[in-house]
Parts: sequence; structure tokens; C-alpha cells
Amino acid sequence: MTAKPPTPLVRAALQARCPSCEAAPLFDGWVGFASHCRACGLDYGKFNVGDGPAAFLILIIGGLVTALALTLQLSAHPPFWVHIILWVPITTLLVILCLRASKAALLILEYRHQAREGRVGGTTPDAKEGR
Ligand SMILES: [Zn+2]
Repeated sequence: MTAKPPTPLVRAALQARCPSCEAAPLFDGWVGFASHCRACGLDYGKFNVGDGPAAFLILIIGGLVTALALTLQLSAHPPFWVHIILWVPITTLLVILCLRASKAALLILEYRHQAREGRVGGTTPDAKEGR
């Protein structure tokens, strides 16, 4: 008997389910992780996605919106206020809508690859520096 293959990352991130059992929701609210899985008890607190999702979104959505704004400016030459009215809400909505999926994707990747803090010779960087 073979183990069930993991759900593809994009689908798993959009579904935002527990990376271990895929039964319970990963979030408690819109973008806040639950403390643990209600189905299998996996502790989500041991994962640390940090600012990674926001950094990815800034780079990806920022690049996309900048390209679209430049294309609009060069093709239609609208007044500056059109850019403000158009791109500020679009950027805000894209970030809000994508933040949940990107946070879920990073947590799922941490789980699948068993990512941990860097260690040298079995000690943490803090212990090696005497902290
Ligand atoms: Zn679970």
C-alpha cells in the first residue's frame, strides 16, 4: 500500500487546509492561522512564515501593477488621478485576496520540506554565538 500523494501546492494553498490531514481549515479568520489543526492536532505555532508572503506579494503584484500602469500611461496618456483611482484599489484588493493563499502555501511548504531554523553541528545559531 502506498501513501496518498500530496495535493498539488496551488490547490492546497487555495483550499487552505491542514498540510498533514487536509481535513480542517488552516486559518482562524481571514489571514490568521489557527493555533492547531482541529482534526489531527498539528501545532501550527511551530511554523513561522514570517514576512515571506508579504514580500512575495510586494514583488509579484508590484511588478504586475507597475507594468499595467506603464502600459496604460504609454497607450492612453490618462491624467495622474486616473492612476490613483485605478491602481490603489486594485493593488489593495490583489494583496488582500492573495495573502491568504500565499501564507498557506509557505506553511504547507515548510511542513512538506520539514523546514527549520538553520543549525550548525547540532546547535542553533543563537547557542553558537553565546546568546
Ligand atoms: Zn490536520
